[in-house]
Parts: sequence; C-alpha cells; structure tokens
Amino acid sequence: MRQSKLFTKTSHSVPKDEESKNAQLLIRAGYIQKELAGVYSILPLGFRVLKKIEGIIRKEMESLDGQEILMPALQPKTNWEQTNRWETYDTLFRFESFYTKSEYALGPTHEEIVTPLLKRFIASYKDLPRAVFQIQTKFRDEKRAKAGLLRGREFIMKDLYSFHANEDDLAAYYEKVRSSYERIYAAVGIGNRTYFTFASGGTFSKYSHEFQTLTEAGEDTIFICETCKIAINEEIVKEQPECPQCNTTKLKEEKAIEVGNIFQLKTRFSECFDLQYTDEKGAKKLVVMGCYGIGLTRLLAAVVEALGDEQGLVWPRSISPFQIHIVGLQGGDEKAQEVYDKLQSQGLDVLYDDRRGESSGAKLKDADLLGIPLRLVISERTLKENAAEWKTRGQKESALVPLDKIIEKVIEMQG
Ligand code: ATP
Ligand code: MG
Repeated sequence: MRQSKLFTKTSHSVPKDEESKNAQLLIRAGYIQKELAGVYSILPLGFRVLKKIEGIIRKEMESLDGQEILMPALQPKTNWEQTNRWETYDTLFRFESFYTKSEYALGPTHEEIVTPLLKRFIASYKDLPRAVFQIQTKFRDEKRAKAGLLRGREFIMKDLYSFHANEDDLAAYYEKVRSSYERIYAAVGIGNRTYFTFASGGTFSKYSHEFQTLTEAGEDTIFICETCKIAINEEIVKEQPECPQCNTTKLKEEKAIEVGNIFQLKTRFSECFDLQYTDEKGAKKLVVMGCYGIGLTRLLAAVVEALGDEQGLVWPRSISPFQIHIVGLQGGDEKAQEVYDKLQSQGLDVLYDDRRGESSGAKLKDADLLGIPLRLVISERTLKENAAEWKTRGQKESALVPLDKIIEKVIEMQG
C-alpha cells in the first residue's frame, strides 16, 4: 500500500484526553480514533492488526472443534431475568424500546443467548460434545474507561462456549482450551509475560482461570510463583496465600491485565434454560457447560503496552499491519518504487512511504511511530552503494543490503 493514499495521518502531539500508553500511541499513529470515552473507531492500520489477531484466534478455535457463529448484540430482558442477571450484572447496558416499551440489554456476554440457542439442537448424548464461538462486539457499562482499548465500553471479544455430557469431558476440553490460549498469547508476542492465573470459580468450581499479561498499565494485581510459572489473583491470595501447585508462599506481586478468562460454568446456565439431554440409558441429564473469552481489542492494546517504546509502536511480525515498510527518501524514490513493486509481486505485505514533500526526518520518525518490524530506506546515499538500509524496529543497528539481495533476505527472514 502507498502511504500517500492512506486517509489517516500521524500526529506527533499527545492527545490531551488520553492517559494510557496504548491509546496515545495508537491514536498518534492513526490506528484508532476515539469517538467517546471507552468507544473507538478502528482505522485501516489498526484493522489490519485486528484481522491478524482474529486469524490467529480463529485457527485455534477451529482446532478445538469450535463452530463459528454470530449472535446478536441486542438481547431480550426476559432471557436475563431467567438467569437472574438482569438486576445483578453490574455493567449491563439496559434500555427500553421507544415504540414497544420492551426492554433490552446490549450483550456484555452471551450465555443468555447461546444456551437457549443450543437447546434447540441438543437432544441426546449423540449431540454432545459441541462447541461454538463468535468474534463479536460486546457492550459493558464500565465505570472507568480511561485505559484506552484495555477497557472499552464497546469492545471486540472472542467468546467460545462448550457443551458436554459430564464434568470429566468438560475438564478434558478445558485443558485443551488452556493450551490453545497459551499458543495464542505466544503467537501475538506476549507469551513470555502472560501467566495462567488461578481465580475464583464462583459457586460451581473451585477455580476459574485468567490469563494475565504483565504490564505497568494493568489494573489487576497478581502473585507469581516463579517455580511453577503460574500466578494467583487477588481474590485467591486473600484466602490462600500460597501457590496452588507447589504450596510455596514465596510469591512475587506484579501488575497485570487480564487478556483472557476460562470458566467451568457446569450447569449454572443449563439449569436456567432447562438444557437437558437423554443419556445412553434414556435418563434425562443437564448439559455441562464451559465458557472461554479473549478480548481482541484488549489483547491488541496489551501488546502495545508491553512492547511499545519511546518512539512508538513495535509490532511482532505475526500481527504487524505490514511486514515491510519501504521509505523512499530524496533521490531514492524511483528505485524505492521498483523495490516496492518487486516485493509486492512476491505476495509480501508492504507499506511504501511514497509521500512527497515530507522531510526525511519526518518520514523516519513516522516509520518508528507506525512500528512495522522491517524498515528499508532507499535514498541517494544508499543508492551510491546500490543498496537499501535494512533496519529492524526496536533495534539500534542497521545494515546496507544490496538491492538485488533484498528479496532473498526477506524470504530468509520470514523463515
Ligand atoms: P475485567 O476483570 O478486566 O473487568 P472480566 O473478568 O469482566 O474483565 P470477562 O467477562 O471474563 O472479563 O471477559 C472475557 C475477556 O474479555 C476478558 O478476559 C478481557 O480480555 C475482555 N474484556 C472484558 N472486559 C473488557 C473491556 N471492558 N474492554 C475490553 N476487553 C474486555
Ligand atoms: Mg476478571
């Protein structure tokens, strides 16, 4: 893509109404725009990152036999009354229709829809297990929405729901989801700072589990066991200040953000909607459920919080909006165009800074702000060596690479 055609622009001043690093950097780089507190538009560069994250998550969900669906954000009050959550779900957006006076919720989660939905199809043990997921917009009336995409009032979540004949089957599936989640966090570049965290399980299970990513901006406090490489959250530490795996009380306190949550619902919702199946012996039993969430927009922001630096965004290759950023500087434009065409014809995702009238300094500063992992500068100076300057975002060193070796080197880099 040619940068001159991009409708967004970078800005080097910090937006006054944003406190968080993720919102400041993403807005300055033109990835997102704030519409109101906790509500953002996702712009072309941000959208490309989101789609890559989505792709990574979708692949894992399919490997868990999850079937993708799309449920409505607009939900009837009656379903929420049936689960006793109309009054008690503290961040539920509730409103009345102007015409019919019926009341609705804007979905903060989808147990109230997915349980009656699956009830239409699950009748016998032969219909189990089943898993469905969606990647969809959620609404929550959050008290504080000052953390940019980390805590939105409207945000994008992947929610997976699983349906089982018994608790053992749920437990086995739950472990598979855990592994998938770990692969997702590794793939987006924050695996080394994301901890499987023991959290309270509500009334039905001893524990649920969160995935917590260490970052200064995190609103949660977790306690890490360095031996087991797991953590416990604040709720758990109050009751049992020790590692649930090795029982050590040597725990390290850290700030973190919850990037995912997995929960054994068991029969909490199947009871409310009377979701039953007939087993092999003809007996009626309640279906056992699990739910598993990942906030995509929060995950994107967590990567920015974790990896972004003074100069701007820093994307891992797996989710970068483009693989390569070609920057044509004075006297290098014609060759830069040639290299751009060549890389494009190889099927590579390239952003080409072809803007005229921007100073070299401004272009290089923008390249740092945008955060694409590989920058190739082509200028009169590099062309004297018949080369481009090759630089990886986040590293100080750069090197000259002969123009006729670039494709080879890019392919080698992509492994
Ligand atoms: P938190 O404790 O941070 O408020 P939660 O426990 O309410 O989150 P869940 O209901 O488990 O969150 O939602 C599943 C996932 O959705 C979370 O792990 C998180 O990644 C994401 N998420 C939750 N609330 C928000 C929000 N307001 N903005 C962005 N993402 C969110
Ligand atoms: Mg939570």
